Amino acid sequence: MAWRRRHVLQLGVIACAMLLALAVGGVGSLAQAQRSLEELPQPVRLKLPPGLARYTYDKSAGDYFEEIEPLLPGGAYAQWAFYPVPVYIQGDHPQWKTFVEQAVKEWSAYIPMRVVAKEEEALYGMSIYRVPGIGDGIAGAARPEFFFAADGSLQQRVRIVIVEGQGLAEVTAVARHEIGHGLGLWGHSPNPRDLMYGGHHAEATGNRRLLRVPTITKRDLNTLKRVYEQPTLMGQVFPESYRRLFGQVREEIPAPG
Ligand SMILES: [Zn+2]
Repeated sequence: MAWRRRHVLQLGVIACAMLLALAVGGVGSLAQAQRSLEELPQPVRLKLPPGLARYTYDKSAGDYFEEIEPLLPGGAYAQWAFYPVPVYIQGDHPQWKTFVEQAVKEWSAYIPMRVVAKEEEALYGMSIYRVPGIGDGIAGAARPEFFFAADGSLQQRVRIVIVEGQGLAEVTAVARHEIGHGLGLWGHSPNPRDLMYGGHHAEATGNRRLLRVPTITKRDLNTLKRVYEQPTLMGQVFPESYRRLFGQVREEIPAPG
């Protein structure tokens, strides 16, 4: 029997970029913020999202909570304060959109999300775009933006980009990972078996390229559950003086219903 060598080539790390530069306030206003700290509302623990409430933390699997960045003042964690989270998916490639929707559906079992038709319906939600290459080996990126709504409540919007030119199965895998960030997993697992591992590799087997990204693991869910068990400032109403300080009041956007 003929023996044929099977080629498995590393194509390099398909990295994921988390762009965290837009946390509330920015470095420049930290000193001013310090003076206003007494005006900050206290972080509160929100009701767990329904699917996450039903999910039981699996002690044998553990978590990587220590890798998650608290993005809010006072070390509070970003969370979604209302559901379903509206998700806009760029729609000019219907088949591509379907594969992104698959990832939305998987996460919705834990934190309800709803795909909306128009970008402006997701100003308090996630927007997912298809973009040309954004850097060597980068398959996708997620960026949170925090702002105050007209009622003074702290809200967030998450923008996700998925690099074009990937196979459709990879699109679902990358979307699954980036949505994981968008839901509150603002960090990477050190374990390659987790969805939220930061350095998943693409491999070429013969002429087929494969991005080996796992589905949502118990460790991913354990970590997400711990994030949502933390007190947060999301949805809390901030005093006007504090909002003015950061200059991020968007009076034109009504509060989410
Ligand atoms: Zn990532």
